[in-house]
Amino acid sequence: MVVIFEGKGTVDLAGLNDSVAVLKGVGTKRQVALNKLGINTINDLLTYFPRRYDDLSIKDPSSAVDGQKVTVKGLVIAPPMLTYFGRKRSRLVFRLRINDQIYTVSFFNQPWLKREIQPNSELIVFGTYNRARNQIQGMKILNAQTSNAFDSIYPANKEVKQATIKSLVKLAYETYHDQIVDIIPASLRAKYRLESFSDTIRNIHFPESPKAAQRAFRTAKFMEFFLFAMKVQILKAAHRKQDPQAEINYQESVVTKFQENLPFKLTAAQQKVIQEILADLSRPIQMNRLLQGDVGSGKTVVAATAILATISANKQAAIMAPTEILAEQHANNFAKMFAGLPVNIALLTGDTSAAARKAMLPSIQTGEVDLVVGTHALFQADVQYADLGLAVIDEQHRFGVNQRQALRQKGTSTNMLAMTATPIPRTLAITMYGDMDVSVINQLPSGRKPIKTTWITASKTNAAVRFVKKQLDSGNQVYVVTPLIEESEAVDMKNAVAIFERFKAIFEPQYQVGLLHGQMSNQEKDATMLQFKNNQFQVLVATTVIEVGVDVANANTMLIFDADHFGLAQLHQLRGRVGRGATQAYCILIADPTNEIGKERMKAVASSTNGFFLSQKDLELRGQGDITGQKQSGMPDFKVADPVGDLNILTVANQEAQRITAEKHWKTKPENVQLAKYLQFSQTINYD
Ligand code: ADP
Ligand code: MG
Repeated sequence: MVVIFEGKGTVDLAGLNDSVAVLKGVGTKRQVALNKLGINTINDLLTYFPRRYDDLSIKDPSSAVDGQKVTVKGLVIAPPMLTYFGRKRSRLVFRLRINDQIYTVSFFNQPWLKREIQPNSELIVFGTYNRARNQIQGMKILNAQTSNAFDSIYPANKEVKQATIKSLVKLAYETYHDQIVDIIPASLRAKYRLESFSDTIRNIHFPESPKAAQRAFRTAKFMEFFLFAMKVQILKAAHRKQDPQAEINYQESVVTKFQENLPFKLTAAQQKVIQEILADLSRPIQMNRLLQGDVGSGKTVVAATAILATISANKQAAIMAPTEILAEQHANNFAKMFAGLPVNIALLTGDTSAAARKAMLPSIQTGEVDLVVGTHALFQADVQYADLGLAVIDEQHRFGVNQRQALRQKGTSTNMLAMTATPIPRTLAITMYGDMDVSVINQLPSGRKPIKTTWITASKTNAAVRFVKKQLDSGNQVYVVTPLIEESEAVDMKNAVAIFERFKAIFEPQYQVGLLHGQMSNQEKDATMLQFKNNQFQVLVATTVIEVGVDVANANTMLIFDADHFGLAQLHQLRGRVGRGATQAYCILIADPTNEIGKERMKAVASSTNGFFLSQKDLELRGQGDITGQKQSGMPDFKVADPVGDLNILTVANQEAQRITAEKHWKTKPENVQLAKYLQFSQTINYD
């Protein structure tokens, strides 16, 4: 068995939009069942890729690997025996002679196979080989005419069986293969030795060898990345259009004075990104900039500078945060930073009372309000802005593309500044966010005490609890992060509750313990965070929902259970919650990694406080197995290709897309005609 690929195809074939219903054998009922699998058109069917391949070439069991699947051919030497256990369960056993060796073959719960097993006849069996017992546990009986040595196994279900999908794919390919056109320009295919698209489809569904399938997938991956990169480049060009309305004529003196009055000196990195942003704003082109900066690097004051510049040009600004409490925190911060300046701030969230909202909306519409701070409420239909010059999105990876665009579209020529602390390595960032310019704050304000991080094994948990007690006795507060077991919030919650009970038993009544998990409503979460902030409890047991930045300056210690279940970037982000005050901060990772890579990951977090270094490390270690880490958040979903594992293909595909779109008349070049047609079809390009 060769596992090459999980998932299904995604590439659209412009010409193949016929419904699957045109195929013989697809009636209404089957069509509905296929639709449920996401198969509506011929295109969907042809790109419904196998999840693995079974090797059906006949082998001698002695050359097979113990415990692996194998196809064998032998002589049935005695009548089969069928035994029933209860009504539904059965076992069918017979002996097979292969090259003078006798093997026992058993089939479970397939009693009907009995009549195919005739003594003294040859039989081909596919099953799992057990060397110690000289036994094969059969999965299927094959007939001699099985044409393909490699059997494609598709994701199927009760309604649509494996065999059905296979025969439909075959029929569709036979009927339509002439119409599969090549979207990738011929010169690129030659340069990277890619297959034609028709061959790619054929070799993925009906490969002659695992190698052939692998080669075909290489082309499919390139294609997926390349088409994505083309779209990004086209969007980027669209953003770069001249737009006089987007120009912000800010008053330099206002900005300078603001910076002079700050209670601290801006770091060189902050000054640099502020220059980049101000230069963007003063251009008659919409800004589309991503600001990356580690937790605590001081992104808020950068945003504040951009906001104030915008307001000094008599335009409005908005800043959107993913949670109410974060929005509130921003509103308070901005009120402090802009104290004494003629800046009118409004806070608009889901919690804003109906009466307050009613009073607020007109003043936003007339421009009386200069800065609107809020959550998703900022882009609701009835919220109208007078002249939205700048939209800032904090923790941008928490929002979907559409939500970011929805806020932006509240103005006609709105500049956008998206901020994130998710440290994405540059190689990935330029492709994933290729339509944005990227600014990076690569240093922390001076005088910060780095968080002291230690890694201990679970057997030392008691020592960690004693340490926590000591911190509590000194008046500090503590986060306890509970293990991430699987991608199920219900299971995570069970863990959190168990640890919550444990800490309550240890610390109450002397110290109060609170609980925060993903199954709570937003209101409950915010209320809990607020109580913690107000020191109503001293220990907060939480799942990763605390990842997003609320400042609790008095919290200086974080204990993370099963730390090896988290991605490195995520651990880094989590511990960024402590160390916001003047006291020394601590992070204790409790983990018992089972292999060297796991240990190396824990050592990396314990020894480095550099988010970019850690995310790079995450990438390197990830390629090598142990994928307990998290998916990089905020990345588009690819179906065939994996931005991390296939980074080389991604980089090349991106370079080529840039090169092609840099040519002025690329769309009309003969070799790009199909490509341009495809992109137009998928609504990326609107031709005038
Ligand atoms: P983040 O980038 O994580 O959003 P913040 O903007 O919340 O970080 O900044 C974290 C803290 O650092 C805030 O209390 C802020 O006032 C402070 N800060 C920002 N810039 C500087 C600086 N140059 N020097 C000292 N403190 C700073
Ligand atoms: Mg922040």
